[in-house]
Amino acid sequence: MKPAAFELFQPETVDDALKVLAEYQDADIKLLAGGQSLIPMMNFRVAQPEFLVDLGRITELRGVEEKDEFISIRPMTRHADVKAHPLVARHLPLVREAYEHVAHATIRNRGTLGGNLAHADPASEMPCVMVALDAKFVLRSKTATRSLPAREFFFGPFTTAIEPDELLAEIQVPKAQAGDRFAFEEVSLRKGDFAISSVAACIGLEGGVCHSAGIAIGGVAGTPIHAEAAEAALVGGVLAPESIAQAAAAILATIEFDGTATISAEYRHDLTRTLFVRAITRASLVGGR
Ligand SMILES: Cc1cc2nc3c(=O)[nH]c(=O)nc-3n(C[C@H](O)[C@H](O)[C@H](O)COP(=O)(O)OP(=O)(O)OC[C@H]3O[C@@H](n4cnc5c(N)ncnc54)[C@H](O)[C@@H]3O)c2cc1C
Repeated sequence: MKPAAFELFQPETVDDALKVLAEYQDADIKLLAGGQSLIPMMNFRVAQPEFLVDLGRITELRGVEEKDEFISIRPMTRHADVKAHPLVARHLPLVREAYEHVAHATIRNRGTLGGNLAHADPASEMPCVMVALDAKFVLRSKTATRSLPAREFFFGPFTTAIEPDELLAEIQVPKAQAGDRFAFEEVSLRKGDFAISSVAACIGLEGGVCHSAGIAIGGVAGTPIHAEAAEAALVGGVLAPESIAQAAAAILATIEFDGTATISAEYRHDLTRTLFVRAITRASLVGGR
């Protein structure tokens, strides 16, 4: 399969890429990151952009850096480099753990974190993790820069808050605090496949009492679900099997589960409850920093 014809731009700076986006924003124009999602879509002609802006030559869009409150990840940093980065291992244990479930090594060697988030596959792991951790995304256009919480970024399957003249320029992920516990649980049909259901959890514990919680559920709706009802049920209490089961019931009651030809809604519901209980229990027992 070959893609339809397109005109290719290969800017070397973000400013030059943004100029192209500003000029062609009313046309069918796409950014190219690692190409692991976009190129297959173009080959199948699901996407037929007239113009393609390859971000691969823009060095300022790569890298991982430590800031006071967060770890700054540039969007063109490849999955494999994020997964192996010492700052990620030290400060973002949930990201590190969840990466075990993202695709296969060959895809992680080309695919990028920014492309993954911008692609917004509802079953993708990193959007779920970013919602749980309350990450911030920096979006740039030729004329403005804005910062958006991950919790407001995902609009629906493959749809985000990115405007046609914008690119995702930075991902800011809050550093883990002392006492924070983490767990990521997922079930997929085969290792490296997208999730049937996944749960990302960050729990703040002191003396057995939960003082903060960031929880998200992936793969069961059009966007990652920020599990606010479960967080509210957990915060202020002691983590025990009963309170965890109540928190699971609180969030599951708010989700309308869909079935597919091979996975029933009931199965996805029960699986999500199991993964939720497993994630919170594991985080509370062994997930500490
Ligand atoms: C066989 C296979 C299995 C996979 N399994 C998984 C999996 O289990 N979990 C998972 O999460 N992913 C999985 N993926 C997807 C993989 O993670 C992709 O790398 C990722 O989704 C897209 O990243 P990319 O860098 O390749 O982006 P591209 O394919 O280049 O781009 C994807 C989209 O993002 C847009 N975009 C890219 N960069 C930016 C930017 N900076 N600003 C704004 N828009 C931008 C592009 O225009 C395009 O619309 C799989 C892919 C394959 C082929």
